[in-house]
Amino acid sequence: MLQDVHTQLYIDGEWRESSDGARHDVLTPATGERIGDAAWATTADVDAAVAAAKASFERGDWSALSGRERARVLIRIAALIRERSEELAIAESVDVGKPILFTRVVDVPTAADTFEYYAALAQTQAGEIRDTTLPAFQYTTREALGVIGALTPFNFPLILAASKLAPALAVGNSVVHKPAEDTPLSAAILARILEDAGLPRGVYNLITGTGPALGERIVEHPDVAMIAFTGSTAVGAKVAAKCGELGKGVMTELGGNGANLVFADADIDRAVEATINAFVFNTGQFCMAGVRLLVERELHDPLLAALAAAIPHVPIGDIADMGTVIGPLVSQRHLDRVHGFVKRAVAAGGTIVTGGEPLERGGFYYPPTVITGLGNDAEAVQEEVFGPVLTVQTFDTEEEAIALANSTRYGLAMGIQTSDIVKAMRIAKRLEAGLIWVNDWGKLDPTVTFGGTKASGTGRENGPEALHHYTRTKSVVIATPPVAD
Ligand code: NAD
Repeated sequence: MLQDVHTQLYIDGEWRESSDGARHDVLTPATGERIGDAAWATTADVDAAVAAAKASFERGDWSALSGRERARVLIRIAALIRERSEELAIAESVDVGKPILFTRVVDVPTAADTFEYYAALAQTQAGEIRDTTLPAFQYTTREALGVIGALTPFNFPLILAASKLAPALAVGNSVVHKPAEDTPLSAAILARILEDAGLPRGVYNLITGTGPALGERIVEHPDVAMIAFTGSTAVGAKVAAKCGELGKGVMTELGGNGANLVFADADIDRAVEATINAFVFNTGQFCMAGVRLLVERELHDPLLAALAAAIPHVPIGDIADMGTVIGPLVSQRHLDRVHGFVKRAVAAGGTIVTGGEPLERGGFYYPPTVITGLGNDAEAVQEEVFGPVLTVQTFDTEEEAIALANSTRYGLAMGIQTSDIVKAMRIAKRLEAGLIWVNDWGKLDPTVTFGGTKASGTGRENGPEALHHYTRTKSVVIATPPVAD
C-alpha cells in the first residue's frame, strides 16, 4: 500500500508548495485511511499558473513548433507512462479505490495510447484550399487557442487528463489542469512525466485543491481561452453558463444514466456479461455505465434469474488483488449519496433483488444492487446514481424500448443486446446518445469518440473530433487581381 505521498503544484516548470503553504489529506477509499497529502492551491497560485501558461504560449517554444516536433514529445510522454506504469497503476488504484487489475490493464495503457494517438494526429493537421468564386486565393488554417483550463473528475483521473492534455497539446496550446480534490495523485506523476519528456516550462501547469474556488477562478480568468470540463451535470451547467457569459470556448462531458436494451433474441450469456460489466465497472462510477436495464418482457424472468445467480460471484474486495473486479466507492460522502438513492427507491416501491446495504468490511464498499418494480419517473431511473445500482424495466415493442431509453434528461452511452444486427443498427440511429455498444458494454480506445446529448454535455473526446475543441479556423483571402493584357 502506498504511504506518505506528498504532492506539490507544478507551475512554470517548478515544483512548488501553495502560496499559503496549505496541504490537504489524501485518503484511500479502500480503508478510509490517510495515505499522504497534497498541496492545496490558492487563487493566487491559479493566477501564477495561468500567467506561466500564457507566457509559454506567447514565447512560442511549444505553440510555434511544427506538429511533427510536438509529436516527438508526445511519443516520449507515452513511453514514459509505460516505463512508470506500475507506479501510476498503484497510485491510481490506491487514490481512487480502483482494483489494480483495471488500473494496470485499462487506465494506464489507455493514457499512454491516447498520447501516442494524438502524436500521430499532430503530424497530420492541415488547413484547406477552398475553391472560392471571389477573385482571390483562399485558404484556411486551424490555430491553437492559447491557454486551456482542464478540469477533470475523480473517477478516471489519468485517462481523462490524457484525453484533454493530449489533443490540447498536440495542436500547440498551453494548459492549466486541476484534477478533482479527492484524487490528485496520478496527475502529479503525469506532470513529472511531461517535464521529463521535455515539454517546455509553463506549457503544462498542475493546480490541486478545492473545486469551486480554484475551478471558478480558472473558468473566469480572462487569459484562459477555453475550458475543457468533465464532471457532474450540475457543475458543468454552471461552467458552461459562465463561459457563455464571458464569450470563451467550452467543452463539457457530463453525467449519464445509460440504458441497456436487451431483446429476447439476444444470446443470454453474452447479455448477462454485458449487463453486469455495464453497471459494476469502476463500481458504477462510470459516466457511460449502463444502469437502466430495459428487457423485453419474455426474457425478463430468465435474465433476472441469471443475473441474480451471477452477481454474487463477481469478486469484490481487496483492490491490490489481481482477482478483484469491484472496489470501494470513492468516499464516505459518495457512499452515503448512493445508499440514499437506494433507500428512496425502496420507499418508492422498488424491490431489491440483490445488494442494497453498504458492506461492513472497512473502506467505502457498496455491493452490486439490482432494483425492480420502479416506475419510469422514479428518481433512481431518471437521475445519475453513480454507483453499482441497476434498475430493471420491461418493454414489449421496439418503439417502447426506444421511448424508455430516451426518456431521461441524459444521453451519453447506451447498449443494445440482440442477435439481429439490422435491428441493432435501426435502433442505434434513434437512441439519443453519443456512443452505442452492440452485444457488449464498455469497449473504448482513443479512436472511439464519445460525448453526450442533452444534459450529458456538448463535448466529444477521443478521435479526431477532440481536436476541434482546441483549435479555431482562420480563413486567409488573398486578392488575385486580373492579369494585365
Ligand atoms: P464534479 O462536477 O464534482 O467535479 C468535476 C471537476 O470540477 C473537479 O475537478 C472539481 O474540483 C471541479 N469543480 C467543482 N466545482 C466547481 C466549480 N464550481 N467550478 C469549476 N470547477 C469545479 O464531478 P465529480 O464528482 O468529480 O465526477 C463525477 C461526475 O463526472 C459524474 O456526474 C460523471 O458522470 C461525470 N463524468 C462524465 C464523463 C463524461 O465523459 N461525460 C466522464 C467521467 C465523469
